[in-house]
Amino acid sequence: MTTPELLAASAKYLANTYARFPVVLVRGTGMRLWDSEGKEYLDFAGGIAVDALGHCHPRMVEAIRSQAERLIHVSNLYHIEPQIRLAKLLCEHSFADRAFFCNSGAEANEAAIKLARKYAKDHWSTDRVEIIAAQHAFHGRTLATLTATGKYTQGFEPLVPGFKHVPYNDLPAVARALDSRTCAVLVEPIQGEGGVVVPDEGYLPGLRRLCDEAGVLLIFDEVQTGMGRTGRLFAYEHSGIAPDIMTLAKALAGGVPIGAMLAKETVATSFTPGTHATTFGGTPFVTAVALAVVETILVDDLAGNAGRVGKILVDRLAALQGGRSVVTGIRGKGLLVGVDLSVPARPVVSACLERGLLVLSAGDTVLRFAPPLIASEADVDQALAILTPVLRDAAA
Ligand code: PLP
Repeated sequence: MTTPELLAASAKYLANTYARFPVVLVRGTGMRLWDSEGKEYLDFAGGIAVDALGHCHPRMVEAIRSQAERLIHVSNLYHIEPQIRLAKLLCEHSFADRAFFCNSGAEANEAAIKLARKYAKDHWSTDRVEIIAAQHAFHGRTLATLTATGKYTQGFEPLVPGFKHVPYNDLPAVARALDSRTCAVLVEPIQGEGGVVVPDEGYLPGLRRLCDEAGVLLIFDEVQTGMGRTGRLFAYEHSGIAPDIMTLAKALAGGVPIGAMLAKETVATSFTPGTHATTFGGTPFVTAVALAVVETILVDDLAGNAGRVGKILVDRLAALQGGRSVVTGIRGKGLLVGVDLSVPARPVVSACLERGLLVLSAGDTVLRFAPPLIASEADVDQALAILTPVLRDAAA
């Protein structure tokens, strides 16, 4: 099919759930992608914080190839070697003792919500069902995670009962919201979709203290911030405290669909055979790929690289501020960076795409960068060489 034919078929046959840009991406290697017309792009979108190792990384390709020849799927009624090894690796590198595998970030958060409610019923009382979440959060699109997200809900009512929203980065608001019906507090350590909002240093430790005092669970959604993106393997590590439950997805298998919910032993034991499950959760195929991805992130210290290169990116972006610039603020940690603009972000994203740079927006006026964790200083220079004139034009 030609590119116009593909675009026409896309418009005709796909559910209209994405405002897609008019390109068809067909091939990638490292930090680079090519479209169906042979045009090259530098990828600072990273599949929205998914392509941690870049495109078609040799270790990932080899893991896919060898596992495809060995075993792709068996039921979780049997033990699965790469799944066991992945759970062990994640637990050994985090606060957690047990892992549950699923297929997406939303499902990981569903599992966390269900586990929190089940734990509350097992240990406290049947009335403790409520989850406190933050405004401008993003936790997924299933009904419960959409309710936790608190927006994009119109037309999908009735929503799931038992969620309360408070402003992000506001400890007194959480303290006021906690009551005898609360079973957990659910937040992102940095809000990604909400505009790369980095909370004050005391926020996450403050949440831990409030949850401990109230005797409720603390859940961190690290679907976007996990797997090295912020300069540590998990974003909670910057805060000096740990949650009781953490959810992962996106970069965990570098682009092969997976989700995970990790929990402390005392909490995890509320899941027993028959209480929660999913057919494709942790198949031999996906967990073998995830194992190769996590091992590469650890061995190549890609979290360290994200911290170093992210700082260079922020410094270069900061130089664009001032005067008549449309850049009004820069936030982020590691290679999750948001730029506040005084103009709409989407035309800037489109202009970058035309010039061969993929970037993201988050909300109406925030430009977001979530490149592969293999990005180098030279990649940042090339991205800024494209972005700088685009921002200058946007100010005109
Ligand atoms: N949680 C966070 C923090 C996210 O950023 C996302 C997706 O952007 C999700 C959950 C939902 O993940 P998925 O799209 O894999 O269901």
